[in-house]
Amino acid sequence: MGLDPLGLEFETYSVPEVTDELKDQAGLSYRVTISTSSGKLKIRSPTLQSLKQILEKAKALGDRVVLSKADTRVLALALDLFREGRNPVVVSDDYAVQNVAEAFDIAYQSLATLGIRQKFEWTYYCPACFRRYPEAELEICKVCGTKLKRKPLRKHAARSRYSEKD
Ligand SMILES: [Zn+2]
Repeated sequence: MGLDPLGLEFETYSVPEVTDELKDQAGLSYRVTISTSSGKLKIRSPTLQSLKQILEKAKALGDRVVLSKADTRVLALALDLFREGRNPVVVSDDYAVQNVAEAFDIAYQSLATLGIRQKFEWTYYCPACFRRYPEAELEICKVCGTKLKRKPLRKHAARSRYSEKD
């Protein structure tokens, strides 16, 4: 859809099904090649276990949640990354994709928002006592001394879908 991994400050991941779709589009295909060779974009296939869980969840969510093969695999890869202790953000404007991500408590952001901001808003929290720190003025939890972690502020991502229509 035109996302440029080189313009982002994060590691980006995709699945072979997505990059295959871009093969016939010269400009996008070139961007994928540059991004993968520079290490900014990693192409990875999801595990069968995660694929199965995404499909089951989509089915449970009902008829409105129809995922393409590529969408299913992107979500499954996000689930894999989540289990590896990362905080993946699924970039998609697709309502079904966002719904399934939300069901797994995985953050998502629409490409339109990302294109403007090129940045996520973060919330900081203590992984030990779960105290939240909305501002990043501290590195260590005031209460228990654990090093704080950050995750994308999901509330903002969910809300932005509506505010953009104004
Ligand atoms: Zn703490």
